[in-house]
Formats: sequence, C-alpha cells, structure tokens
Amino acid sequence: MMQAVPISLENCAKTFTDGTRALEPVDLAIAAGETLVLLGPSGCGKTTTLRLIAGLEQPDAGGRVLFGGEDVTALPIEKRNVGMVFQSYALFPNMSVAENIAYGLRLRRQSAAEQRARVGEMLALMRIERLADRSIDQLSGGQRQRVALARALAVRPRALLLDEPLTALDAKLRDTLRFEIDSLLRELGITAIYVTHDQAEAMALGDRIVVMDHGRIAQVGAPRDIYQRPASRYVAEFIGTMNRLSGHAEGEVFRCPGGYVAWPELPATAREILFRPEDTRIAAEGEAASLRGTVSAAFFCGDHVRLFVDVGEERPLVLETPARREYRHGETVALAVERHGLMVL
Ligand code: ATP
Repeated sequence: MMQAVPISLENCAKTFTDGTRALEPVDLAIAAGETLVLLGPSGCGKTTTLRLIAGLEQPDAGGRVLFGGEDVTALPIEKRNVGMVFQSYALFPNMSVAENIAYGLRLRRQSAAEQRARVGEMLALMRIERLADRSIDQLSGGQRQRVALARALAVRPRALLLDEPLTALDAKLRDTLRFEIDSLLRELGITAIYVTHDQAEAMALGDRIVVMDHGRIAQVGAPRDIYQRPASRYVAEFIGTMNRLSGHAEGEVFRCPGGYVAWPELPATAREILFRPEDTRIAAEGEAASLRGTVSAAFFCGDHVRLFVDVGEERPLVLETPARREYRHGETVALAVERHGLMVL
C-alpha cells in the first residue's frame, strides 16, 4: 500500500523566460488516492501543470504547490518523492530491467537486501518477473512501459505522475495497458495525475477530468458530468461527438433547416441545440418524425452502422443504428431526438 496524499495547486501560473504564458493562475485540489486526468489539445498546458506538481518547474511568484498540507513549492523533484512515467519510457538502456527498477532505491542508499525485496515485489506487481535480467532493448513497448511503472512505484512515491504513458503504443496494447493501469491505481490507492489528449483514455481512467484550454481550466468534473453536462461548447466539442442544429425557438419548438425539435424547456433565445449521437435515432415506422435528411455516409461497423445524415446544417448529424438494415447514400431518413439529451450552451 502506498501513502496517499492530497495535492493542491494554489494560484499557480507559469510564464517561461521567453515570455510564453503556458498557464494562467490555476487552483486545483486533488484528493488523496484520486486519479485526476489532465485533458486537452496540444499546447494547452497539461505537461506544464504536471511538471509544476513534479517539481520540474517553478510556478510564477505567488503560486504554491502543497502535498498534504506541506508547502513543497521550493522543493526540487528529488525531494518531493514522486514517481514519473513518460511516453518515451526514459529507461536506462545499459541497465537490466531489475537494475532500472532498483535505480531510485540505490539513489536513496537502501541496503542490497531491501533493494532485492522491493524489486521482486515490483516485478510481481507488474507481472514481469521473467524479464528481470533482460536488457531494455530486448523489450517490447508494452514491456518497457511496465518497467517504467515498476521503477516509478519502487520508491513508494507520494504521488504517481504519468505523461501520455500509452501514446507511443499501438491501439490493442493501449487498451490492455489502460486496463492494467486502471486496476493498478485502484489497487494501490495512490494519488495519480495522468496527462493525455485522448478523451477515451481520460474517461476510462479518471475519477475526475480537468479539461484545459489555452492554459486555463475549462471544466473539472467526473467523466459523466463532463460528457453529459459540458460547461461550454469547447468542452462539449472536445469530448465525444456532438450533433448540432442551428435555427430559432418558437415557443416549445426549435425550428431548423431539417425540420423541428419539440422541447418544453427550450430557452426562447436558443440559436442552436446540441445532442449526442446516442440520443439521435432513426424514427420508428409510423412515428411522427420532426427531422428529415439524406444519408451522406454509412459505415458498417459489424454490430452497428455509423450513419451521417445531412439535414441542411454545416455538418451532418451522426448516429449509430443497428446493422440489420442497409442504408443507401442519398436515401431520405426521418430522425428523432431524445429530449433528455438536448442541451443549449
Ligand atoms: P502537448 O500535448 O503538446 O505536450 P501540453 O498541453 O502538454 O501539450 P505544454 O507542454 O504544457 O502543453 O505547453 C504549454 C505551452 O507552453 C505551449 O505553448 C508550449 O509551447 C509552451 N512551453 C512549454 N515549455 C516551454 C519552455 N520551456 N519554454 C517556452 N515555452 C514553453
């Protein structure tokens, strides 16, 4: 078991010496044992935030980083006792797997017996016992990332910081390791901060997600909140797929080029309404359908068809529908939208 600490950033901004403002003043509290995911497009400040927590960067004057109430702002990385895992593994190629895992323990001058015991424990935890004596260049990408995790955890860090650890791996391996990391973080109960630009990864792993936009926090919340109740259009469009209709409100009806959508809670000022693909469906036979469009693409995915329907908007509506029926390009379809999925932002 690891000692889990809460971590907080208070008023942490970061301006680099060349004048680049990577982070606007940010306040963020991470609970002990929580997995917090920093999510956002390239350059939004995810890595900078992680490096401030690690002690690899200092915040601008006035910013503070706290580990369980202790002000660690002035402490360099080696005094913060954090474990780090990077996309690039950053393992020592001239050392064996076991030596890599023992590296931090040696720096801390632990006895040879202690080192052996801890390395054994980490090899077992990551299920890589049989790789102990291999050299790093004899390992696959997934194995390297397991070694990197074992090395980061060997020192019993107060927090585990992961920067795009799965990005370099192929899709299948990414899935497997995502599952393993999720189980590992839960089993260890360690405070973890995980940087990614992959929203599926963020939703699968995060207890909470921080969506970032140009050095600012756009929204913090549980994956479900972020997905179902995005705070802004930016968040809504960044996470998952959003369907959008543009038009105007007439009482409880939203009129748009493709028809109309009835919605009792419709705000009178609405100029566009948003909803997810899973709240969009082909209208049932005989159902009074309010939206009509033509099929602009249909991708057969085995268990379902991903359908793109042109309803006279800038972008076609997207929905998934059972694969039993075939759809032809240009075919007219009637659509229905579930009311509970409607949003205005
Ligand atoms: P990515 O996913 O591409 O790694 P990110 O969200 O992690 O992006 P950061 O690496 O935190 O973004 O960078 C935020 C901004 O700060 C970017 O504009 C980047 O170019 C800039 N930046 C990062 N490090 C430095 C530095 N040492 N000096 C100057 N500017 C920097």
